[in-house]
Formats: sequence, C-alpha cells, structure tokens
Amino acid sequence: MLKSLLRKRIYETKIVMNKKRVCITGAGAAGLIALRHVREDPDLEGCIFEQTNSVGGIWKYVDKTGNDEYGIPIHSTAYKGLRTNLPKEIMGYLDYKFPDSEHSYINHEEVFNYFKTFADSYKLLEDIHFTTRVINIQPNVIPEQPEWKVTTENLTTRLTTEHFFDSIIVCNGHYTKPYLPNITNLKSFKGEIFHSRDYRTPNIFLGKRVIVLGAGPSAIDISIELVEFASQVILSCNESRCAMPNKILIHSPVTSAKENSFITATGNEIECDVLLLCSGYVYDFPFLSPDCGITVEEGKYIYPLYRHMINAMFPTMILIGIPFTVCPFPQFDCQIRYFLQVIKGKLTLPSKDEMLQEIKKEERERLENKVPLKHSHKFGDKQWEYNIQLAKEAGFLNLIQPVIQKVYDRAGLRRLNAPANYKHDHVTIIDRETFEYVED
Ligand code: FAD
Repeated sequence: MLKSLLRKRIYETKIVMNKKRVCITGAGAAGLIALRHVREDPDLEGCIFEQTNSVGGIWKYVDKTGNDEYGIPIHSTAYKGLRTNLPKEIMGYLDYKFPDSEHSYINHEEVFNYFKTFADSYKLLEDIHFTTRVINIQPNVIPEQPEWKVTTENLTTRLTTEHFFDSIIVCNGHYTKPYLPNITNLKSFKGEIFHSRDYRTPNIFLGKRVIVLGAGPSAIDISIELVEFASQVILSCNESRCAMPNKILIHSPVTSAKENSFITATGNEIECDVLLLCSGYVYDFPFLSPDCGITVEEGKYIYPLYRHMINAMFPTMILIGIPFTVCPFPQFDCQIRYFLQVIKGKLTLPSKDEMLQEIKKEERERLENKVPLKHSHKFGDKQWEYNIQLAKEAGFLNLIQPVIQKVYDRAGLRRLNAPANYKHDHVTIIDRETFEYVED
C-alpha cells in the first residue's frame, strides 16, 4: 500500500516537473484567456503577473489620471461614458459569450463584469499575482534551465523576485503610452493640451472651444460627447469618412501652433482653448531586455514577429494583440490556442531563417504597396484569413464562426454612416452563418 502510494506520488511529481511553465504578463482580455488555456492543459502550468489590483486591463475604469498610488502610470484609458464600438455579440472569446442583456453596445462596466465572471468561472484568481509588476524579462543563459528569467516587483513591499519559465506570453496591452504627433511650435500654445488617455468626462470642457485631433473611434466618440458641453468642437483629421453630426466641424490635421490657435495642413487658422489629442498609442515593452531581440520602430512596428506575434529570435515568446483594426478577443484566443500547440511541440514552426525571410517579405510588400510604417500591423479584412489559418493548423476550426465577420462588417458600415446613433442598434446571432441587425 505504502509502496504504491509512494510510486503514485513520485509519478505525480514527475508529471508536475515535466510541465512547461508559462509566464503571462498582464490580466487584461489577452492574459485571462491565456491563463485559462494554460490551466486547462495538463502539460502546462503558469501564472499571471498583474501590476494593478484587478483583472480586466483597460476595462477597469479608473477616475484618476496620472500615476497610481505606487507611482505607476494609470493603465486604464477608459472614459466614463465609454461604450463598446463593436456589438458584444461578436466581442467574446471563441467559446465564451457575453451574457444576454438589453444592449448590443455595452458600457465599460459590463465588459469589466464579463472578465470578472470569466476569471471566477475558471478559478483564474488562484494563479494571478496582483500588484506585481514585471520589470525585466530576459533569456536565461544557464544551460539545462528554463529558457526565461523574469524579474517582478511586488509594488506593496517593493521586493523584487526572480522566476524561471519555459515560455512567455506578453499581454501588457497597447493602449496606454500615447503617440504624440509632430506639431510645430506646440510649446507656444497657451491653452490646454490633453491626450485622450487622460480624458474621463466631457463636463470639464464646458463652454470651451476644443479641437479634437484624430479620426479613430475615440476621436469620433469623444467629439460626439463634447458637443453638449463645449462651445465649439472641431474634428481635425486627414479624412473623416464618417457622417458626423452637423455641430462638429471637420478640418484637416493641425500642423503648427500659435498662442491661441492652430494652423491646419490646408492653411486654415482655428482659434481654440483646448487641443485634445486622440492620436492613438505606441507599442511599448519596457520590461523586455534588449537580448530578447525585439525592437519597436517609431513605436509602431515590432520586429521580428512571425505572424505578427511570435518572436522569431526566441519562438517560446509571443506578443499577443499586436494586430489592430480587428475584433480583438476572438483573435487573442486564436493566437493563444495556436501558440500553446507550438510550445507543447504539437505544431512545428518554420526555422528561424524561414521566419525572418517571411517577415522581410512582408516588409518588402508593405513598401511596394506604399503602406506607411505605422500600418504595419493593421489588419482589417485580412484578420479573418489569419484567424482561420491559425485555427486550421492548431485544430480548432470548428470554433471559427463566419457570422462574426458578417456582423463586424455590418457594424463597421453603420459606424461610418451613423456615428452618433449606431450604438443603439441591436444584433441577434441566429446561427454560425446568420444574424439579425436592427438599426436604431
Ligand atoms: P489591456 O486591457 O491593456 O490589459 C493589459 C494588462 O497588463 C493590464 O491589466 C495592465 O495593468 C497589465 N500590465 C501592463 N504592463 C505590466 C507589467 N509590466 N507588469 C504587470 N502587468 C502589466 N476592443 C473591443 O473588442 N471592443 C471595443 O469596443 C473596444 N473599445 C476600446 C476602447 C478604448 C478606449 C480602447 C483603448 C480600446 C478598446 N478596445 C476595444 C480594444 C482593447 O484594447 C481590447 O479590447 C482589449 O481590452 C485589450 O486587452 P489586452 O489584454 O491586450 O490589454
């Protein structure tokens, strides 16, 4: 009896020792789905290091701007009135839907609750180290040991710890470090300058003349919110294909500043009190040591990423969520399912040279097609083929639902044609192929 118990224990220890250890940085949408899959896989074990005290990443709304109580920049860039720009019916992970509710375009709190419930259902909290910031990741040079050394800092005690892992899933989010456009003489402007990262509520702009610079979903949403409060709202962008409400005037991008005004690319001068930069964000990985081999050009192009995710220099490292203009959560799920098959040895990647060649080929194509560097990771329509490719190779094609693309395209059109109203639309998914779309 004792012998067999002992044998069993030795066997269990062996299994545990053979498990691949996975480090996940960040407990946002990407990190949570990564941890779920790691926990469900008997060959893997892992944990998340999360610098805040909560799951949900940018969806955990925080009133405060600037730094948190530990001196770390507030991570969430959600604003008080934020509602999703995609219907929740297509936003969920591949096999974990948003709960039914009255609206398709839900507020940030409902998205946050989705993550809280998800984390509870899969008992993820057990393996999340909160208020623990990843400060360094580097390849471990000691032979016969796990490939990665990760240093974390416990923000409450300020103690640092070293950990060793076989693979790394980077999920630190890409909407926190602002991209600041080049505006000549910006310092001479005497009014206020904000980045949308620090925007929370429109009432602070009461009676002010505001220029909103940008053409993305945040610029459009925020301009619409401001109309009720500001005395003038100007959307300054290259081209707005959106049919904006009449009260919002559209001008070309501002290129230089004076004391009380800005000059646009087409030579107009616009007086204003506030410049609100909705100019987007840059990719930033302050914790990756240079020997990880990852570089970020102009904050917009990450090299060398095979399939826009796997570090070709060290293929046991993946960066999740780099492609943009996509339906994010299902794609995070696809990337992670694929990567876990790779690190388990069930899927073989091309050689390092082949991956680098593939990356260089994409770079050449981008140049030939005159695609700007900042759009290197922009996907749009190609996201669907990309997801299908990953799913085919990793064996989860049954989870890819064609209806998601159909709803995404329809919602995109509505966003262009009715930016002030589309968030009242309602979507019902009927089956894998069909849906019902009721316009407001
Ligand atoms: P995040 O949510 O940013 O999470 C990253 C986590 O990593 C955070 O918890 C952070 O604290 C942690 N972290 C970072 N650095 C460290 C470190 N060094 N150590 C430890 N932890 C760290 N997507 C949609 O699908 N629908 C929408 O409607 C939509 N609206 C959006 C609106 C706004 C304003 C923004 C900015 C984005 C929106 N998105 C939307 C895209 C959104 O980014 C994704 O939906 C998704 O939430 C990103 O998840 P993530 O896990 O990659 O990053």
